[in-house]
Amino acid sequence: MDYGYICVKRPYMFKKYFLPVFLFTCVALTASAQPAKPKLVIGLMIDQMRWDYLYRYTERYGAGGFKRLLAQGFTCENTLIPYVPTYTAVGHTCVYTGSVPALNGIVGNNWFDKKTGKGVYCTDDSTVNGVGSTSVWGRMSPRNMWTTTITDELRLSNNFQSKVIGIALKDRGAILPAGHSANAAYWYDGGKWITSTHYKEMYDSVKKAYDLPAWVKRFNEKDMAGQYMGRDWNTLYPMNTYTLSTADDKDYENTIRTEKTTTFPHRLSAIPAKDRYEAFRTTPFANTYSFDFAKSAIENEKMGAGRFTDFLALSISSTDYIGHAFGPNSIEAEDTYLRLDKDIADFLQYLDFKIGKGNYLLFLTADHGAAHVPGFLNEHKIPAGTFFDDAFFTEINKAIADTFGYAKGVLNLQNYQVYLDIDGLEAAGKEVAAVKKLVMKILRSKPFITQVFETARSYEAALPDPIAKMVANGYNPQRSGDIQFLLKPGYFDTWGNGKGTTHGLWNPYDAHIPLLWFGWGVKAGKLNRETYMTDIAPTLAALLKIQMPNGSVGKVIPEVMK
Ligand code: ZN
Ligand code: ZN
Repeated sequence: MDYGYICVKRPYMFKKYFLPVFLFTCVALTASAQPAKPKLVIGLMIDQMRWDYLYRYTERYGAGGFKRLLAQGFTCENTLIPYVPTYTAVGHTCVYTGSVPALNGIVGNNWFDKKTGKGVYCTDDSTVNGVGSTSVWGRMSPRNMWTTTITDELRLSNNFQSKVIGIALKDRGAILPAGHSANAAYWYDGGKWITSTHYKEMYDSVKKAYDLPAWVKRFNEKDMAGQYMGRDWNTLYPMNTYTLSTADDKDYENTIRTEKTTTFPHRLSAIPAKDRYEAFRTTPFANTYSFDFAKSAIENEKMGAGRFTDFLALSISSTDYIGHAFGPNSIEAEDTYLRLDKDIADFLQYLDFKIGKGNYLLFLTADHGAAHVPGFLNEHKIPAGTFFDDAFFTEINKAIADTFGYAKGVLNLQNYQVYLDIDGLEAAGKEVAAVKKLVMKILRSKPFITQVFETARSYEAALPDPIAKMVANGYNPQRSGDIQFLLKPGYFDTWGNGKGTTHGLWNPYDAHIPLLWFGWGVKAGKLNRETYMTDIAPTLAALLKIQMPNGSVGKVIPEVMK
């Protein structure tokens, strides 16, 4: 609706004949300035972003990034995750399904399948192949998710005329949000964006083969990941100005792949070629690279230019890799968020220009937060610690063998849950209740474990509110373990060398996430009452006037809407 065009072309005629009509139209348009539907919805998930990061580095955030979203958009200040475990796949699924693991089936990044006796990765799908990659990381789809997503519902609302694309370095961050019926999901593998044969549009009927779209190939050929790794990671500002973070050389920090030290400058250019593309994940440049690819998708797929609302589900993953390695109190985390703030400002400016201010609806949230590094807390006398659950596994199995004469009574230990070989124990005539009792006794003997209970009987465990609800929401009889344990705050199961940090528990540091709404249909303002991760999808459904996802248990947040 560029009325300026008419004005320039025919100034005289415009003035005489069209001015009254023009003015009337302007008034009418202003009265209903908002188009009936947004041209584009952008779901922006920041992996491992705690709510407090919106404010922690506020002094050095610019006006166009987080601060713009806070000032012009709507912030739900107390948004909580209503389940455990708080992992990536579970969080991305909950945001887009409005549902919980008990109903949507995504109970972890990984779980154990008692029927096959094998571990399952959330987006594993042996029935599909990679497109743009021959590695196992291409064999992925949303098949393990039992419910529809808001992106599926958008496609269903208009006979699949909305375009839906998911993008994230992490396969699970792209695939689960994009839903079952997406046009495409792209994730990162060895320096390139790839997808899988799950996405039928990848089939080239001329070549009679699956292939990446030409624009994705062109993007990959530029080898931008390799180019980003050609420079080193220095801090944006002088090191001595990072006063919100611990000293740089802490031995409880992890390193970037193949690096020998934990300190700046991170000499990315010195990382051997064979490790370069994997190491790239643990740099802030991979965030910028994800935004670069998102812009390319909008451009080349003409997103936001059609008759129907399109949906870009973008997840930023490197915040999580960096958070795991260095922890929330590191200079690396601070520098990453200062850079991310600039990336967001740039992306919003791009959307203003490309889609138009007020024509797009954006929400920003996270899949979970993260704990402080226990070594850092201990330095300040705050209780925290780690343990290896692999050691439990061996210990419990030995005790079952010694007491009941049954080897491998525990099949797996995952997500703070013990998977018992109940069928095997029963077939061998063992008293399963007695085995469970023994397992729970061993777990209870650990000084950092606070509660132990059977997952199917958590209501008997007298768990305090809201943990009882979070446990029940996270329990899925087909996919969860048999016995679960909770830990003292500040403790977690670790892997590798025990350095760095993680997430996965009920505690506020893992479960309190940001939730910002911005653009089309959104009021400026803030809300302090509690809202939940499950409320995001139903609120989107209400804004877009489409069905809620079919497993949604969340509630609309009416305060957000104009
Ligand atoms: Zn995550
Ligand atoms: Zn993580």
